[in-house]
Amino acid sequence: MTKNRLQVFWTICLAFLLLVGGCTPSKTTIEPVQSEAKQNNKQVSELAISNEPKQSESDRNKQQMTEVTKDETKGELKVHYIDVGQGASQLIIGSSGKTILIDAGNNDKATLVVNYLKKQGVSKIDILIGTHPDADHVGGLDAVIDNFEIGKIYMPKVQSNTKTFEDVLLAIQRKGLKVATAKAGLTLDWEMDTNVQMIAPVEQYSDTNEMSAVIHLSYGQTSFLFMGDAESKSEQDMISSKVNLRSDVLLVGHHGSNSSSSQAFLDAVKPSYAVIQVGKSNNYGHPTAEVLKRLLDRGIKTYRTDDQGNIIFTTNGKDILVKYDNGITVPIKGEIAPTSTNNPSSVKSSEVPKKQEDNVVYNNCSEVRAAGKAPIKRGDPGYSNKLDRDNDGVGCE
Ligand SMILES: [Zn+2]
Repeated sequence: MTKNRLQVFWTICLAFLLLVGGCTPSKTTIEPVQSEAKQNNKQVSELAISNEPKQSESDRNKQQMTEVTKDETKGELKVHYIDVGQGASQLIIGSSGKTILIDAGNNDKATLVVNYLKKQGVSKIDILIGTHPDADHVGGLDAVIDNFEIGKIYMPKVQSNTKTFEDVLLAIQRKGLKVATAKAGLTLDWEMDTNVQMIAPVEQYSDTNEMSAVIHLSYGQTSFLFMGDAESKSEQDMISSKVNLRSDVLLVGHHGSNSSSSQAFLDAVKPSYAVIQVGKSNNYGHPTAEVLKRLLDRGIKTYRTDDQGNIIFTTNGKDILVKYDNGITVPIKGEIAPTSTNNPSSVKSSEVPKKQEDNVVYNNCSEVRAAGKAPIKRGDPGYSNKLDRDNDGVGCE
């Protein structure tokens, strides 16, 4: 398709920026986590049960849902940071099984993403978001659209004349979907107990990365921020727009590029945990040493798909568990006891065979040394946060 034809095509798409119908309940089921949460008195005492009625999609003039805490969570929410190499893709499965897919990696990861979703029992994507038209984000979207029922699709008002982007538009057209414009100020109609806000792009930017849709999700007392490839200009505008940026888990913008994750932004988000979706030995130098240092300086524990493969966070609205491909489950917030011998996720790595030693749990460094495993690195079986007090990725040094 020529650039002109594409522009006409995209213009037609935009002309139909109608909202697609509501969300029917998904057939998705997920395995419940074997959580053994001890009561955290402080957190429980701070619980304020909210009976806020569900609001449908609102415009900027409506009350900002960011102010509402939906503490009455009904089960578990899972966030999958899918290992798509140098690219990005996140699957969110809500407490009643509704789904959000943000991006789908490069073209050559389309089958991987489709298979991953099927393995989770996903049959419908209730909300599909293409953060921006770059190939490492929208490459696999056409296959996702072709393979799953799609509720609603959001993309920012920016075009690209690549074959990859054209394929996405054609898949949307084939399915008769209408694209809703991704922009700041939208409350996404999803699970009753989850608050999902689109907080960027705040403005129209000439840079494609800056046009990235940014999603803030809060579930009970836990929160997640999904950045796409948004960079410092968009970050500054999000800060200025005074939306709630605070998040427990930050998907680091633009794969850890130095143009994102500015000091001011990190200080506004104040994450405890960060995820970087990045390919091993990529040509972009992602993530940069500067960004890693900014995270480290703030004591933000960082997970990377190039080191850990698929990374899955599970939360009950209070506690958070993280699990990655080597089968180790680590409680990172709250008091959930490790469930290392009971794999809590339905995801099992096809690449990392599950060995006996993958389930080993060391309670302290004495045990690690006794086993001859010290120092123990992040990603090794048995590694956990408590063994790595300085949080440098190497425990029991
Ligand atoms: Zn990217």
